[in-house]
Amino acid sequence: MSVGVIIVAGGRGARAGGAVPKQLVDLGGRTVLQRSVAAFDAHPDVATIVVVLPADRLPEAAGLTGRTRVPVRAVAGGARRQDSVRAGVDALPAEATVVLVHDAARPFVDSGVIDRVIAATAGAGAVVPAVAARDTIKRVAGGTNVVTETIPRDEVWLAQTPQGFTRDVLVEAVALGASGVEATDEATLAERAGHAVAIVPGDERNVKITTADDLEAARMQYAGTPRIGTGYDLHRLVAGRRLVLAGEVLPSETGPLGHSDGDVVCHALADAMFGAAGAGDIGQHFSNTDPRWKDVAGLDLLARAVAIVAGRGWRVANVDVTVILERPKLVPHLAAIRGNLAAVLGIEVEQVSVKAKTNEGVDAVGRGEAIAAHAVALVVSGARA
Ligand code: MG
Repeated sequence: MSVGVIIVAGGRGARAGGAVPKQLVDLGGRTVLQRSVAAFDAHPDVATIVVVLPADRLPEAAGLTGRTRVPVRAVAGGARRQDSVRAGVDALPAEATVVLVHDAARPFVDSGVIDRVIAATAGAGAVVPAVAARDTIKRVAGGTNVVTETIPRDEVWLAQTPQGFTRDVLVEAVALGASGVEATDEATLAERAGHAVAIVPGDERNVKITTADDLEAARMQYAGTPRIGTGYDLHRLVAGRRLVLAGEVLPSETGPLGHSDGDVVCHALADAMFGAAGAGDIGQHFSNTDPRWKDVAGLDLLARAVAIVAGRGWRVANVDVTVILERPKLVPHLAAIRGNLAAVLGIEVEQVSVKAKTNEGVDAVGRGEAIAAHAVALVVSGARA
């Protein structure tokens, strides 16, 4: 038995608000979609995954789905969910005889649910993981607020995904969908096609992220997962340049040579933040051949780095910088430097550490020919509003 998985990520996520579709929102360093893909990639029975994306996202598919063990194909979705699933089925290799269909917006699916669905599918033909309804269920006449019936709760189950199908049952179900029958899931189409659909226990945590509140609740689960990055910068010191560190001008005969102002504190910190957020490096964002960044102030670049990292769902929790400089003495300036950094980073001064070292007269930094800085930044999910 070879298991193929179709992950439906074709939605625009309009109900969750925001410019980024909900399946591409970051949850603690991985997007909703990447977490869904990873859950199936980690399951030993899964042999192949097809991700159904909006057509305009296909060129970035590899990055969107993340690194995987099993082969992942990306295909363009259709107008309706069932059209997207149909495109997914068409892209599955012939040997995939059991097919799981999963909503990308359910990133918390665990191996227990996947196990139960796979185990039951070969025998049942069509399987839905489901959880019991906790609330009393009322039927209300369409377009009114009048209860017409109270449905016995033990007869009501809330359907989740992944839904499991033998391939022939799923092909029949999506063919019915293609013929014009509308449904919000594939199990409904299988039912309409005359197949029995079985349920297996789902999982209360396997929620579908639908609204902005769902997204916020999902983010909260990862709010405690920090990430760390390091940065390093060095500039040669030459006569006729100002020595600026985090906006403070230091008394010095020499200053850093560079396309920008050569502020090693801000440059090392920006790189540390980019590293923590997995957002590339400073050269990639602010090329030293781009005239826009000629003589640009370090604090300005740092503010831009904060915005770039925030755009990826991260905010800085604390930073630690070591500046290596032979002269002048940095200590009298450290309070001002920390204050400037805290203001730009949007954190308290206590969360900003700046330390000063000399290089004991050794090598270029020790001879006063260069200035260097090392930085570490810790970021946590949840950009500030
Ligand atoms: Mg630099």
